[in-house]
Amino acid sequence: MEKAWKLLSQDAKLSPENVKEPLKEIRRALLEADVSLPVVRRFMKRVEEKALGQEVIVGTTPQMALVKVVSDELTELMGSKGAKDLEPGFPQVVLMAGLQGVGKTTACGKLALYLRKQKKSVLMVATDVYRPAAIDQLVKLGKAIDVPVFELGTSVSPVEIAKRGIEEGRKLGFDAVIVDTAGRLQVCSFTVIVDTAGRLQVCSFTVIVDTAGRLQLCSFTVIVDTAGKLQIDGDMMTELKDIKAAIKPTDTLLVVDAMTGQEAANLVKTFNDEVDISGAILTKMDGDSRGGAALSVREVSGKPIKFMGVGEKMDSLEQFFPERMASRILGMGDVLTLYEKAATAIKEEDAQAQMQRILSAKFDFNDFLKQWQNMNNMGGAQMMKLLPGFNKISEKQLYEAEKKFKMYESMINVMEEEERADPDLLAKSAGRRRRVAQASGHSETEVTSMMASFTQMRAQMVTMSKMMKLNTAEGQQD
Ligand code: GDP
Repeated sequence: MEKAWKLLSQDAKLSPENVKEPLKEIRRALLEADVSLPVVRRFMKRVEEKALGQEVIVGTTPQMALVKVVSDELTELMGSKGAKDLEPGFPQVVLMAGLQGVGKTTACGKLALYLRKQKKSVLMVATDVYRPAAIDQLVKLGKAIDVPVFELGTSVSPVEIAKRGIEEGRKLGFDAVIVDTAGRLQVCSFTVIVDTAGRLQVCSFTVIVDTAGRLQLCSFTVIVDTAGKLQIDGDMMTELKDIKAAIKPTDTLLVVDAMTGQEAANLVKTFNDEVDISGAILTKMDGDSRGGAALSVREVSGKPIKFMGVGEKMDSLEQFFPERMASRILGMGDVLTLYEKAATAIKEEDAQAQMQRILSAKFDFNDFLKQWQNMNNMGGAQMMKLLPGFNKISEKQLYEAEKKFKMYESMINVMEEEERADPDLLAKSAGRRRRVAQASGHSETEVTSMMASFTQMRAQMVTMSKMMKLNTAEGQQD
């Protein structure tokens, strides 16, 4: 993807010729991200139309103009700018649905912790009576994050447990109740042939198979209604509907594994048609997924992704911002998420000051050092994965990068105050570079390579500053 952008950078305007190659790359990237072909086609058409009518704003490059068009369209496809939160209510009742193994139980715990951080009291309800281990898992999770779990073992019906769980929640004055449900197995489409007179006719319905693709459960009921249409219900889907009717949740969230790829479209459609979801949680976004599932959810259901899971730990849940996902899909990194993570690791004033530095396109060795120190506070070089162009970095490269940063740190530490504030002093003087090399115990070549890295990073910051200004300017026009 980065290659295509480079091809554009010398031109002054967007033209059919210079956008052709980058657009091809974008198309390829979307298909690689497992976005379904019809969605990609519609998307590319819109992007092309918008890109060609696009004026390139003075002070920015055509590259940035195209990135902006693509990123805006991607954002639009996934909803609109800004994250959607849970629906309000007292108590807030969140019904969790999804296939087995997607991370649903984990997501219950994460969501509970998310609500707890907002000073809300939370109760979790375990209704998966088919797998006693699932109840134990939720109870254990609850203990770990200090959130009580309501359960009645495996001999009471899930609908009854859910109902009594909500009653308990109301009675004890909990602000929110999260209901975990039994995982449906993989759903896939089949064709069957039946008609009202008992003769066979072609129609489509849903069968449940396990994750290995073996047929597991065919206990759907085929009811032929008076109009001769078939109504199909898997037992578990019926149960989910019954639970929903009994507890009237404020949110029904479908938990989707981000690695599901194109199949996500069918899955989301089935669940949304059956139980009318209010949104989705996309899990395992820390994996290799490029986000194709994220694009499908909104397209087929019209419902927003509200949260995403980015790890196995309980605090690995983030609100979902379509605009940030757009930049992640584009391989531009996720600078805003980085800044949000930074906000929890560094002080608000510091973050503001840094943001201002970036917006003013100033970047010196002090900033460089500060960023490295903040990065360290946030988990070290792993955070680099969120930087523009770094999302495909390997563990080995991360290790090397970390080593390099440490070396840079030792060089900056021995610089004079004026050198830190004005990097050009070092760039212009071999004598200064030699002194820094000697004092930090490194070679002059290494100091030169540090200067090169720094210059590159500074250039990136300048680009970022321009893009941020572009966004701010647009935000003000809206
Ligand atoms: P359930 O069957 O849908 O309830 O799935 P679980 O909650 O038991 O999760 C299945 C597996 O996925 C567990 O090993 C979780 O630790 C893991 N998992 C869940 N969410 C995430 C996530 O966001 N990232 C990663 N890497 N693993 C996750």
